[in-house]
Amino acid sequence: MTRVVLVGATGSIGRSTLDVLRSLGPSVSLHAAFAGSDAAGLSAIADEFDVAALGVADEAAYAALRDAAPGVRTGCGDAFCEEVIADPAVDVVVSAATGAAGLPASLATLRHGKRLALANKESMVMAGPLLLAEAERSGAMIVPVDSEHSAIFQCLQAGRREEVASIVLTASGGPFRTWSKKQIANAKPADALIHPTWSMGPKVTVDSASLLNKSLELIEAHWLFDQPDHLEMVIHPQSLIHGFVEYGDGSIIAQMSRPDMRLPIQYALTYPARAPASFHRFSVTDFAELTFHAPDLDRFPGAALGAQAIALGGTAGAIVNAANEVAVARFLDGAIPFPAISATVLAVLENASIQPDPNLDDIYRADLAAREDAANCRI
Ligand code: MG
Repeated sequence: MTRVVLVGATGSIGRSTLDVLRSLGPSVSLHAAFAGSDAAGLSAIADEFDVAALGVADEAAYAALRDAAPGVRTGCGDAFCEEVIADPAVDVVVSAATGAAGLPASLATLRHGKRLALANKESMVMAGPLLLAEAERSGAMIVPVDSEHSAIFQCLQAGRREEVASIVLTASGGPFRTWSKKQIANAKPADALIHPTWSMGPKVTVDSASLLNKSLELIEAHWLFDQPDHLEMVIHPQSLIHGFVEYGDGSIIAQMSRPDMRLPIQYALTYPARAPASFHRFSVTDFAELTFHAPDLDRFPGAALGAQAIALGGTAGAIVNAANEVAVARFLDGAIPFPAISATVLAVLENASIQPDPNLDDIYRADLAAREDAANCRI
């Protein structure tokens, strides 16, 4: 039996993971669940699943959790989360918190030699080399849950790493794909929160609208797939091909499925096995048309920030991620217009001094400084 710790249990990926656990039956069980502050959500999970522990990140939510889940071991904070992850009973951790807050759980997972089902792309964006070093040391495996990276992970099984010519991540193009620059300049938070093909949490949905999500994903792929020479993004509005790998002989291997996170989550839990899908399966005859085009960097300057951060290296990923988190929050609060998200990230990145070979403290310092810069940035 595979025992799973779910971090970010009450968010969009968390709910999809619970759905996968329901359908996989007794071969996989939920050992523990963690959330930011949603004590009621965790207590509902404990009512349904036989969990050994529940935890919240937010200290202020701890009393509510303790009262809501009598008879279950409860705790709060990163140290408690790590203690639960370290339990020899645990096999896999689904790291699905939002933003930089997800990094400690991802690191703890690899430190204790557990499989990391990585949905929190920010972990890899901020601290890719540190995560890889922990995985190398402990022998733990990282299986990506981000749909594009799961696709690439699957496509890479068709050849050898040295035979790869290029890796391509697809992007839906988001809700503003067909909008003019002027329309985008006047976009409201509600406009950015409607995604054409994927149903996701608010932060990643706004990131999809700015294409900064794809920039973060390029950085994630840069580390996950061993710094490939050719790493690209392409707009594919139907969101049916999630990524493809081109080999030196000219063969392109693509992974196709409906845009449903339950597939990459399930694959990360059962890999190398493929369990039957309980959710809606893909039929090519339902989709007459697959289209692809290059991103328009004039309307979506956020699409260029990933390659820029990769070229800068070191703390650049952490800086882009932190500045973006703050800028997205300010946009959702109505404090800045939509184009100011990417402009803020670019300004913060250009003003920052990049540390080339950072340790964890350096990364958190860069993260904090970028957050302050982004909060004070006037575009
Ligand atoms: Mg993705």
